[in-house]
Amino acid sequence: MRTIVQTLPGSASTDQSEIGRTFAGVGVSPGRIIGSILLMPQAVREPAVGESLTEGTSPEEASTALRTAAKAVQTNLTARSVGAFGAGREVLEATALMANDPMLVKAAIKLIINGASPERAIWDAAASVAEMLHNLGGYMAERATDVLDVRGRIVAELRGVPAPGIPYSDTPFILIAEDLAPADTATLDPAKVIALVTSSGGPQSHTAIIARALGLPAVVAAVGVTALANGTRIFVDGAAGTILVDPGADEVALATAWETSSAALAAFDGTGRLQDGHLVPLLSNVGGSKDAVKAAAAGAEGVGLLRTEFCFLERDTEPSIAEQVEAYRGVFDAFPGKKVVVRTLDAGADKPLPFLTDASEPNPALGVRGYRTDFTSPGVLERQLTAIAQAAEGTQAHVWVMAPMISTAEEAEHFASLCSAAGLATPGVMIEVPSAALTAASILEHVDFVSLGTNDLTQYAMAADRQLGPLAALNTPWQPAVLHLIRLTVNGSRDEGHDKPVGVCGEAAADPALAVVLVGLGVATLSMTARALSSVAAVLASVTLPEAQQLAKLALTAHSATDARRLVREQLPILNTLGL
Ligand code: PEP
Ligand code: MG
Repeated sequence: MRTIVQTLPGSASTDQSEIGRTFAGVGVSPGRIIGSILLMPQAVREPAVGESLTEGTSPEEASTALRTAAKAVQTNLTARSVGAFGAGREVLEATALMANDPMLVKAAIKLIINGASPERAIWDAAASVAEMLHNLGGYMAERATDVLDVRGRIVAELRGVPAPGIPYSDTPFILIAEDLAPADTATLDPAKVIALVTSSGGPQSHTAIIARALGLPAVVAAVGVTALANGTRIFVDGAAGTILVDPGADEVALATAWETSSAALAAFDGTGRLQDGHLVPLLSNVGGSKDAVKAAAAGAEGVGLLRTEFCFLERDTEPSIAEQVEAYRGVFDAFPGKKVVVRTLDAGADKPLPFLTDASEPNPALGVRGYRTDFTSPGVLERQLTAIAQAAEGTQAHVWVMAPMISTAEEAEHFASLCSAAGLATPGVMIEVPSAALTAASILEHVDFVSLGTNDLTQYAMAADRQLGPLAALNTPWQPAVLHLIRLTVNGSRDEGHDKPVGVCGEAAADPALAVVLVGLGVATLSMTARALSSVAAVLASVTLPEAQQLAKLALTAHSATDARRLVREQLPILNTLGL
């Protein structure tokens, strides 16, 4: 339960000319909250190549400035690590150690003595140290990222500008950013960040996924919001997608009501069902064993999507089979006797993995990503399937496996043959590309199940990059075109005499109103962030199957995504009662 931050209206930090200003974005995670904002600092600019000492500065003075900056960064990171949690704490401790590493500082001072500015010196010294660590491989290679992070911080300290990354504050704040990368999550402390607002990003962007996973109210694509000053007090409505500067008594009442209603939402009891008893297993999306343990505690009926690439983000070498076995087994062990659907590496576009993807592709979302990396890096997929099979041995989880970004029945057939060779009995594929939705019947001749990745299915159906703020209105799974593709997939699954399960593991499943529509369209299981389980379960339990089917019809025949959402929400009064 988060507490709304209340300061006096028109607080000192709020620019008087901004009072009453509103911003409209796309609400991606519900919640109404009031707080003061902190802006995500700009990425640190590289000092000019060859930048030398400024006139009148001696190498000794510059070396002292560098040492002082490195020490200041170390002190700051150490202080922050004390109050941090879990993975964030580990990241901060490792980075603090690196900040004042004698080898790094000495290498930079050598360059200063040769005439380089302290900023350029630390930049180049860190690059050499990072390369050396990288070449050592294994654990040392992982530290290369810390060195590069530290270098940005030292340069910012030398320039007297805010440090890069999630800003730090002793008091809770609303984070305003252009967009967030998956790697930013490690240092995002949900006890401090009470809401997220971005000027870019779409409803299926990783910012939105992160916000839902953390249960933070969030709005994306709120154009202009990054121009607000640090400390401005705002009201965020994560369901409506609106932001108001310097809220008054009405918004304070709304924020207080939200706190009360979210506290009243009953915990998920572990069985997803409609009012008439129709079962809809509610599974969880996880990125590793820590998530899996949380999901199991939240009552998830299994894992509908293990994003294996999240276990290895930032890695620039392929993880060994042993490392993979360890990562996957942690997830299987959290769900004995339950289904765990492992997705093979979905590298590319917004989730680059340096050992698999080519960062210079002109259209990464249309490029070599997901299953397609098997075309350019043969062997990685087979080794991953071997690791999954080994991890599954001796566990009690029912391990299913699926490939992302499948476009044709031939690809599905090839993937199924690799699974069979690895001894994996239940192969499936994701339906994320419209061609796969249209040919679901042929695809299901080769695999045992499909799972709709509505985030990518929407971006490809609407030809709208899921990361682009200006396209956010197109990029919603409420688009009737997307709903038609889902219906076609379900129809395909019932063709040719087979009846194979169709699940949804995209963000659509975490939207309680859309979850009703998906069930009405014939989807069998829903997989979502553990945080969404209780709200989705509560709304599903308020309708019967015929009612869900009726609402699905309403959404399918709506003229627009906005109409579809509005018409369905009007029929679900429980959403208002629960503030969803
Ligand atoms: C999807 O595309 O809906 C999905 C679940 O995969 P990801 O968000 O990881 O691309
Ligand atoms: Mg996807």
